[in-house]
Amino acid sequence: MINYTERITRVMHDVVARTPALSFIDLREVLVFARYGRTDADGAFATCHCLTLPETEPGYYFWRDRVTGELTRRSEWFVTKTPEVRLDGTRIKYLISFVLPRFCQQRLDLSWKSELYNEAEPWVAKLDTIIHELYHIDPAAGGIRQFAADGARSSRTHAPEFYDNVAAMTRAYLATGPEPALLEFLKMDFVSLQTRFGGVLATTFKNFPSFPQRYMAPCETLSANEPEGVKIEPLKRLTQPSVYTERDLHVRQFTKRAALRQIA
Ligand SMILES: [Zn+2]
Repeated sequence: MINYTERITRVMHDVVARTPALSFIDLREVLVFARYGRTDADGAFATCHCLTLPETEPGYYFWRDRVTGELTRRSEWFVTKTPEVRLDGTRIKYLISFVLPRFCQQRLDLSWKSELYNEAEPWVAKLDTIIHELYHIDPAAGGIRQFAADGARSSRTHAPEFYDNVAAMTRAYLATGPEPALLEFLKMDFVSLQTRFGGVLATTFKNFPSFPQRYMAPCETLSANEPEGVKIEPLKRLTQPSVYTERDLHVRQFTKRAALRQIA
C-alpha cells in the first residue's frame, strides 16, 4: 500500500531544497498527518497548524442577566495552551494535515486556481496546495503566515499575493526538473491509487479523528481567590493529551468512506 503522508513529506523535502524562499524550513520540526474528508463534501484540502503559539493571558467567560445586565455567573479563570508534540525527542513546531480522500481529487481545471497557471496539468493543483501549506510557516517563527483553512474559493481569505507567490514557487519548482517518480503519485486520483497500490495509508493521531489542538487549562490560583456571590461554572477538563509523542501516532488505511486502524 502507498503511505500518502510519507510521500507528501518526501515531496516537501525536495521542494524545500529547491525553493530558496522556503529553504529556512526545518522539516524535522514539521509533521504531516491525515484527516478524513469525503470527496463529495465541501471543505479544506489541507491545513497548517502552528504549535508554537504562546499561552494566552488568563481570562474567563461570563453570563449576564438579560434584564438587569448583572453578572449572574462566570467560568473559572483559564489560559489557552498549545499541546506539545515531541517525536523522538524533537519538538514539532508545525503540523500540516491533508484531508483524504478529498485532497487526492483536486484538479486545477476544476479550481479557481487555474487562473494562476497557464497550461499546467490538472494534478499541479495538489502540488500548489503542498507548497501553499509550507508557505504558511512563518520565517520569523512567530506562528503562521495568514492563517486560514484552505480549500474552496469561499474560504479565500488570504491576500491575493499569497496565492500568486505560491503559484510562482510551484512553477519555479517544476522548472528545476524534479524527479518525475517523486511526483507520480500526485497525478493519480483516489481510485487510481487504490487500484495501483492496493490501498492508501496515512499517519494519524491515536485519538483520531482528533489531533493536537489548542485547549483551555484552568488557573487554580486565580480561581481560589474569587470574591463571593457570583456562581462559578467549572471548565470541562481536558480529555485529550497535552503532550503527544511518537507513541500517539497511528497509521490508518483511508477508504472512500472511512479511515481504519492498521494493526502493526
Ligand atoms: Zn492557506
